[in-house]
Amino acid sequence: DVQIQRGVDPKDTFILESEIGRGKFGTVYRCTEKSTGLSLAAKFIGCPKKEDRRNVEREIEIMKQLQHPRLIQIYDAFENGKVMTVILELIEGGELFERVIDDDFILTEKSCTIFMRQICEGVDFIHKQRILHLDMKPENILCLTKTGNRIKIIDFGLARKFDPDKKLQVLFGTPEFVAPEIVNFDEIGYGTDMWSVGVICYVLLSGLSPFMGHTDVETMANVTIAKYDFDDEAFEEISENAKDFIKKLLIKDMNCRLSAQQCLEHQWLKRKTVLRTPSMDVTKDNLKQFVDRWNEPYVFEICPLGARSNSSESLLGDSPSPCGSLASSLGSMDGSSDSGLLGPPREP
Ligand code: ATP
Repeated sequence: DVQIQRGVDPKDTFILESEIGRGKFGTVYRCTEKSTGLSLAAKFIGCPKKEDRRNVEREIEIMKQLQHPRLIQIYDAFENGKVMTVILELIEGGELFERVIDDDFILTEKSCTIFMRQICEGVDFIHKQRILHLDMKPENILCLTKTGNRIKIIDFGLARKFDPDKKLQVLFGTPEFVAPEIVNFDEIGYGTDMWSVGVICYVLLSGLSPFMGHTDVETMANVTIAKYDFDDEAFEEISENAKDFIKKLLIKDMNCRLSAQQCLEHQWLKRKTVLRTPSMDVTKDNLKQFVDRWNEPYVFEICPLGARSNSSESLLGDSPSPCGSLASSLGSMDGSSDSGLLGPPREP
């Protein structure tokens, strides 16, 4: 059982090596445990404020509850002055999308089902532990190895324990992947993660981002009305089963979306289903552009929107990034008004 070691320098126990990743909150290094020689990953998170420390403690608590092969595993944790360090299992295969755009990787619908099935297995386990991930996006899906097909879900920094009897609202996420109820600051639930799973699946199959507008505001406006289509040529070779899978996730009403378990029972993810296997060349070209765009130095800000209810447990105070300018410029969005905010999706 991992307990946070307070006042202990992780460098006493681990040898730090090269940097292997960087997020909004943490920097991740490869490291070796001195006593065992084990290779691991050390995520350092600067915590100048007590609130930051509380957030990391929550992330650690949640990870401790999530012991599953599809989910990143925690190994140790330290609090040393204003820096917290989480020691994680090392995942060496890099981001899933980087992997699938590799020239050596033959991307087919079949391979997409192999990845989507594992993502759903991971999310199913998370949800069965009554936890919401709330940051499901391609960056947070890593490949275990450079050549195998196994993936793991990482980054529980925004995850929350969920009590279906209590109303929960949050104000964070990444515009392209967040569900309408987040944009609208409505009640969230298990379906909130399932929407993001639907977006990930759409991108994986086409290389296109279903709700992307010219600006974050446009993107979120498209999300709130669940406006997307399969018109692009990238979908020409994609099976009806696959489209049906996405259609049953990208539904505005979160209660009508498939659960992770139902996804695993969907025809498209059944192992027996025979799929055409043309390599998806248009998708691959699109995915290369998608990944390039995500690797640009500017990444979308987390944007709280439409904070108009205060009658429930809100996590406003936990919002990791102080923004709100978009919210005020948008006002109430119900998609019915001709706000001029809606633009053609998918064009960067
Ligand atoms: P975000 O900005 O997405 O909230 P964060 O600051 O919480 O990120 P992580 O997403 O946990 O940080 O990690 C940042 C990056 O480091 C990841 O995108 C990934 O590439 C890499 N990374 C994280 N954990 C591991 C690990 N266990 N093994 C290998 N690489 C990792």
